Amino acid sequence: MKVEFYRHALGEEEIASVVETLHSVFLTAGPKTRAFEAAFAEYLGVRRAVGFSSCTSALWLTLRALGIGPGDEVITTPLTFIATANAIIEAGGTPVFVDVEPTTGNLDAERVAAAITARTKAILPVHLYGQMCDMRRLRLLADQHGLALIEDAAHCVEGERDGVRPGQLGDAACFSFYATKNLCAGEGGAVATNREELAERLLLCRSHGMNKAAADRHHGLYQHWDMVCLGQKANMFDIQAALLLPQLPKIAHHWQRRCAIAAAYESAFAGLSGVTLHHAPRDSRHARHLFTILVPAESRDRFLAQLQEAGVGCTVNYRAIHLLTYYRERFGWQRGSFPNAESIGDRTLSLPLWVGLQEHEIQHVIASVRACHAGIDLG
Ligand SMILES: *Cc1c(COP(=O)(O)O)cnc(C)c1O
Repeated sequence: MKVEFYRHALGEEEIASVVETLHSVFLTAGPKTRAFEAAFAEYLGVRRAVGFSSCTSALWLTLRALGIGPGDEVITTPLTFIATANAIIEAGGTPVFVDVEPTTGNLDAERVAAAITARTKAILPVHLYGQMCDMRRLRLLADQHGLALIEDAAHCVEGERDGVRPGQLGDAACFSFYATKNLCAGEGGAVATNREELAERLLLCRSHGMNKAAADRHHGLYQHWDMVCLGQKANMFDIQAALLLPQLPKIAHHWQRRCAIAAAYESAFAGLSGVTLHHAPRDSRHARHLFTILVPAESRDRFLAQLQEAGVGCTVNYRAIHLLTYYRERFGWQRGSFPNAESIGDRTLSLPLWVGLQEHEIQHVIASVRACHAGIDLG
């Protein structure tokens, strides 16, 4: 049996939506992109959403739009996908890693306070696996020190904590619609924000700084446009938006299905000695993007190998990124710099968690993990 790590749930509705768009005049950012932006903002309970080509471009252009550049420090987590920290460097800033909470893997607000310097301009938390960071604490800190607060919400479309959802307390939240994310367009991203003027600036930044978008230029008679700032080319386009639009009404249903799978895993693994599960923060709704377990560091790679041999797709989210060659060489980080992130990075592995998983496939994942566990040397 082969259980893929991930399979998308795109079906006839999404295909029909794309076909309809292909029959229309507009393929780039046009009516579908606008409709998606409006519907996504409404879903999230924020004023505006702006579509991007990826979460990566959304992150670095948001940083830039908020004025972050050379000499500016941005506090973030070393336990994330490289895109988070790379975006800071791409914007010209300096990533300052702060260690994570051992229980959740999320940026530790306590340590963030201690890392703020005169050069700090922003905090960039990541809602890891779909568990929200403590946004109320982080907002308070950001306000006390006059910092921007930008959320990497690539895992967290459905998340909520203390009555707050991504984009509601942050200046902006960046989302990914990459091939394996909860909303999937193959590639794509968006920024959610309550700040109208930031949304307007992002529309410029994603399109060369042109003050008239292609859709404006197409409707009605030709009008001269101006370039008012230096922008990039990173807009969402209508074929992506056509794929995303039919997925929005299914978010809650898909989330419930992933919650049920996660619950099955949790009850199956709760009693396994040496296997640790993350506990979601209280008063929170876990977006259930990834299901991870922690196993002893010395057996993690054997777990990965054996699970894959048993036909269970699995992966690692993430090994601590300050230990990757580029980050070590450029910033001088080493083992021991961020022990909590390293400990999770050395022990974590991610199991299949997707809407279409069948009951026998879930049972196969569980049985395979148990079989690996039977071989653990618990010392
Ligand atoms: C997937 C991901 C990104 C990057 O998203 P892209 O849309 O591929 O650019 C950024 N941050 C995190 C935490 C991610 O998981």
